[in-house]
Amino acid sequence: MNGPAESLRVRLHGLGFDEVRFASAMLGPSSGLSEWLAAGMHGEMDWMERSAGKRLDAAAVLPGVKSVILLGVNYWDGRPPVAAGRPVWARYAGHADYHDTIKPALAAAGKVLEAELGIGAEDYRYYVDTGPVLERGWAARSGLGFIGKNTMLISRTHGNWLLLAAILVRAEIAPDDPIRRAEPARAAPHGVGLLCGSCTRCLDACPTQAFPAPGVLDARRCISYQTIENKGVIPRELRAAIGSRIYGCDVCLEVCPWNRFAQAGRRTLLEVRDEIAGLSLREILTLTPARYAEVFRGTGVKRLKLTGLLRNACVAAGNSGDRGLLDELVVLAGHPAALVRAHAVWAVRQLAPDDWNLRLATARQAEAAVEVLDEYAA
Ligand code: SF4
Ligand code: SF4
Repeated sequence: MNGPAESLRVRLHGLGFDEVRFASAMLGPSSGLSEWLAAGMHGEMDWMERSAGKRLDAAAVLPGVKSVILLGVNYWDGRPPVAAGRPVWARYAGHADYHDTIKPALAAAGKVLEAELGIGAEDYRYYVDTGPVLERGWAARSGLGFIGKNTMLISRTHGNWLLLAAILVRAEIAPDDPIRRAEPARAAPHGVGLLCGSCTRCLDACPTQAFPAPGVLDARRCISYQTIENKGVIPRELRAAIGSRIYGCDVCLEVCPWNRFAQAGRRTLLEVRDEIAGLSLREILTLTPARYAEVFRGTGVKRLKLTGLLRNACVAAGNSGDRGLLDELVVLAGHPAALVRAHAVWAVRQLAPDDWNLRLATARQAEAAVEVLDEYAA
């Protein structure tokens, strides 16, 4: 037990962080990043490649760094994953953008560090998911959890439901121990699957078979990547498996048995936005720019932009089997954005295979239909 580290931990807990752990910056994060990038599994996320050096070496981000503080925010709310009859959102999407709501607490944490460690504002740097810091790898190094076969950081007390932040600090803080198995671990590269045992639930449940191996995620096949990060066309061969998921995917998280330990948290650093999960697919398909701005103001979904959300809604509608959505889709088949038009035509074709072309009457709809047919022919 280390006095200053424990006092720091208590004060950071008091700011709303549910987990506070420390790692030595000397060891580097647990990571299979280099191999993953070399295999091209990051898709179009070029920024991952550009920042790889920094992600693997904290000193490249903050020269002289000695410690990394890992902070976890529990976002489990105990609710069933899907609101009946509604499109499916990743759990974190039902909140205001957590980057924005957690950052003020990180700023306050910086002041605590200055007071407790006698350092200046230039001696630390904090990130919540958006910087060149491998939070998951550092979190595993600090014993906050282990990296599961689903590639997520899994906590023994919160399951898969932690949002992570990291603070790099130019001061020595006694590190916490990483998780170790009582019995000798079977060969697990970078500690992946350390406490998974023989479980393969996440690998088996993935709707798009996005795991070529345990602990290796091919982002190009992942629904989260396709519905959030990909700004272009969603590959046709993945659309059916996307089902009614409109933004992200939690399947490989939801099935994990470690979630049985999760408890609904304080969530003091989160702002719940219930209206998002309550939206029907029809309401989303008919969102105007003004309504979109109103509903998604201050949320992460805003970065997707209305065209991206409409694209995803068209895929969900095409998978719904609900011909009652055809009128809305036909309107979207004439949308100014070619991205929306192409996915709307695809959805009309799914729902009305016999007369889909008759429904697309305007020049723009017909043009979109031709684009889609060309794509089929290619
Ligand atoms: S998020 Fe969904 S699609 Fe992506 S790997 Fe997990 S289960 Fe598969
Ligand atoms: S579902 Fe099973 S294999 Fe996958 S991360 Fe959880 S414990 Fe590990």
